[in-house]
Amino acid sequence: MALRLYNTLSGQVEEVAPQPGRPLGIYACGPTVYDYGHIGNFRTFVHVDILRRFLEQQEMPLRHVMNITDVDDKIMRNAAAAGKPIGDYTAKYEQAFLEDLDALGVEQPEYLARATEHIPQMVSLIEKLVERGCAYRGENGSYYFRIASFPGYGKLSKKDLAGMEDGARVDVDEYDKDSARDFALWKATKPGEFHWDTTLGAGRPGWHIECSAMATEYLGDSFDLHIGGEDLMFPHHENEIAQSESATGKTFARHWMHVRFLLVEGKKMSKSLGNFYTLRDLLLRGYKASAIRFLLTSVPYRNQLNFTFDGLVESTHAVERLRSFADRLRKGGFPAGMNPTLLAATKHADAAFTAGLEDDLNTAEARAAIFDLVRLANSSADRGELQTENVAPILEVLAKFDAVFAVLEDRDDAVTRLALQWAEREGRMGEASPDLVARYSLTEERIDQMIADRNAARKARDFARADAIRQELATKGILLEDSPDGVRWRRK
Ligand code: AMP
Ligand code: ZN
Repeated sequence: MALRLYNTLSGQVEEVAPQPGRPLGIYACGPTVYDYGHIGNFRTFVHVDILRRFLEQQEMPLRHVMNITDVDDKIMRNAAAAGKPIGDYTAKYEQAFLEDLDALGVEQPEYLARATEHIPQMVSLIEKLVERGCAYRGENGSYYFRIASFPGYGKLSKKDLAGMEDGARVDVDEYDKDSARDFALWKATKPGEFHWDTTLGAGRPGWHIECSAMATEYLGDSFDLHIGGEDLMFPHHENEIAQSESATGKTFARHWMHVRFLLVEGKKMSKSLGNFYTLRDLLLRGYKASAIRFLLTSVPYRNQLNFTFDGLVESTHAVERLRSFADRLRKGGFPAGMNPTLLAATKHADAAFTAGLEDDLNTAEARAAIFDLVRLANSSADRGELQTENVAPILEVLAKFDAVFAVLEDRDDAVTRLALQWAEREGRMGEASPDLVARYSLTEERIDQMIADRNAARKARDFARADAIRQELATKGILLEDSPDGVRWRRK
């Protein structure tokens, strides 16, 4: 079997397959680096990661490109307001974005493409469109795409664009979601504004041309799969298709995947509505990166997901349940032999996990398969019916699950520590929960020292002092576990 995904272009669930002998070409629209990303943005990137990891698990070679939009209206405006060149302004947010991806366990694509590093490709694409009569120069020196020249306009979003005004134009990067207008490919700049000097004159690219130019640069005129959030379907992706197909006469992307929104109280989480949380906001409130990642995949990408703090707490517990189950298996102490019923259930979970993901990346089904197995194995173990030879196959299924979902390995502590260091540098410690600050006020060296003191006290049979030290650590959220190999600690 192979992965089948809903294709927005055809309106059908279709197999995703590369051209013979070639890697699967994927272009996923990346962030505009004008500010910190919110977890709505990351819902899209985490699903791209789930897809990516699953395809890797299926041993499909990938050539995945993500753009970084490091020039647009907002960036120009904010950089000018900060009195900085745009590159200085965006560097900080690009770095933050990459750190956030890492915190969420998102793998990097094969190519990260910055818009500002592909200006010549954009200029030559625009020139080609002018040559073919699909673009024209306005009296203001800007260049526009003539949508009336592209009969297929609207084929992705299925919008009825009858009655669209021929020649009506729009200059801004973000505009009315329902009307089709000739859109800017190249924006002439005013004196003093940041610009590139090119054969098109002094100016800068529009947003849509960036993706067309960079997708073609890395993936060719036609490629397999294009991904973005649902808001990008129109006009951004429609415009990409119009530009690219007008220039090449070939199908641009064969398959289009759109990740539906993360909502807050029924509305799209977005900067403009002010109803957003960044990853860092949530880390400073004491939530774990693994729980946030897990929450974002709890509902399959084809459905919107409503963000709630209750949901986040539930995800925290779900990740804990999985981790303690894996610990329980590794610690062992089970009766010898093999329980055949449990082995059959393990094989079933394995198959159901893969089948769920193959079925339009149904993360909910894939997760349910694993949680069913965890429930059954835990109750078998409680009854003494999980046997030594059941352990390895179950751990294998867990590893397979985790190669895609990536929440079992506990990196949460390190991630939270980085977030606190960032807050300290940015003067934002006031946003951190007091509980979190107290918990992380102990350095690892200090914790190790206190554990050494406690060991010394115990050796000296000063149990009152040993208990007092354990108690002090506990109030700061550090839990000690005495094991045969010594004392281990973890944060509550
Ligand atoms: P931006 O930086 O605004 O261009 O967005 C980056 C990516 O996040 C795009 O693919 C958007 O479609 C996606 N996105 C923005 N808001 C949301 C949301 N609330 N839920 C899911 N994806 C979103
Ligand atoms: Zn794009």
